[in-house]
Amino acid sequence: MDIRVGNGFDVHRFEDGDHVILCGVSVPHTKKLNGHSDADVAMHAVTDAIYGALADGDIGQHFPPSDPQWKGADSTIFLKHAVDLSKSRGFNFGNVDCTIICEMPKIGPHAGAMRARMADLMGLDVGRVSVKATTSERLGFTGREEGIAALASVTLIAP
Ligand code: MG
Repeated sequence: MDIRVGNGFDVHRFEDGDHVILCGVSVPHTKKLNGHSDADVAMHAVTDAIYGALADGDIGQHFPPSDPQWKGADSTIFLKHAVDLSKSRGFNFGNVDCTIICEMPKIGPHAGAMRARMADLMGLDVGRVSVKATTSERLGFTGREEGIAALASVTLIAP
């Protein structure tokens, strides 16, 4: 049995707007996240965790921000690419765990929808997908509400 662990980390800064997209779910907010794609910081962290488990680079190598075709891209494209790459190499997912770090918006009321969306996109039982959140106690850039950070871990298992 081949068991792999991967981790991912991402940050996007806030700019003027009225919603953020996290784990594929639109959450009303007084700002939006800046990014070349749709700036789904949590989905990017999960995607990078998968590439990490596969030892196959990172999201920026697979989808270069310098390439105009990814401008405003739906980040589900990136996640699905990483999931398909895992499957093509014979791996199944053990679990996914994502932590979103921000003061606002509050994640708790949306975490269930985020888990369901990620599980659906990845073809997993929702019991294998965790989305949770923490603040940084008003410290640092997340504490000053300058942006959102996200961490993710995944396990991949090949029989
Ligand atoms: Mg990103």
